[in-house]
Amino acid sequence: MEKEKQVIAIDGPVGAGKSTLARLLAHRLGLLYIDTGAMYRALAWLVRKRGIDPTDQEAVEALSARCRLRFVQGEETCLWVEEECLSMLQLRTEDLGQLASQISVYPGVREALVRKQREMALEAGGVVMEGRDIGTVVLPEAPIKFYLEASVEERARRKYEQLRQAGKAVDLATISAEIQARDQRDRSRALSPLRAAPDAIRIDTTKLTIDEALHLMLEQVRSCGRQDG
Ligand code: C5P
Repeated sequence: MEKEKQVIAIDGPVGAGKSTLARLLAHRLGLLYIDTGAMYRALAWLVRKRGIDPTDQEAVEALSARCRLRFVQGEETCLWVEEECLSMLQLRTEDLGQLASQISVYPGVREALVRKQREMALEAGGVVMEGRDIGTVVLPEAPIKFYLEASVEERARRKYEQLRQAGKAVDLATISAEIQARDQRDRSRALSPLRAAPDAIRIDTTKLTIDEALHLMLEQVRSCGRQDG
């Protein structure tokens, strides 16, 4: 498979290791990394900034259709949302995650963001794209699809450590409850629910280090390349 044509889709629930592994995989393979969750979060940020009621489906959908989103990749990736450049740190808060999950059920929002994601993938040529519906809806033709998962306890523990290291006062039970609420909403929504594509390679990262999981993924990519060639 030509490097510039490599398209890798990664899906899974919150805390399964998608962002970290997608970023590392893209770096190792020299591909563009696109974090689609950041796009839903950026829209949530804009909804809040504009004072739009998130339950006002029509207003949120209208905003999603006209808002401009653009990634600037570099040492520190940021996402231009209209006139502001937001860092991943600014976007990765739990309240924006919950709000993103709430507005991502609207068909108009999904349609607008999926269109932008496909355009980005097409423009980039080779890409590692990560989210909830990449292998099933956004890039169903992707030759390599991963579905990452891990136990709720482990995902909550990872999140807890991340927040604690960032100096935030957190409670493990609250994090676990938030993760389960978001899982439930993402899995049960009518449109593009979180699920593995039938041809996705499933990896349970519960007992794996980041290096071990990355190694497994690289092996799979190489073996797909061998089958193609
Ligand atoms: O991955 P992340 O936690 O940043 O995603 C935030 C929320 O955005 C998810 O809980 C999900 O509801 C939504 N999302 C989505 N489809 C994607 C990526 C994220 O619905 N492809």
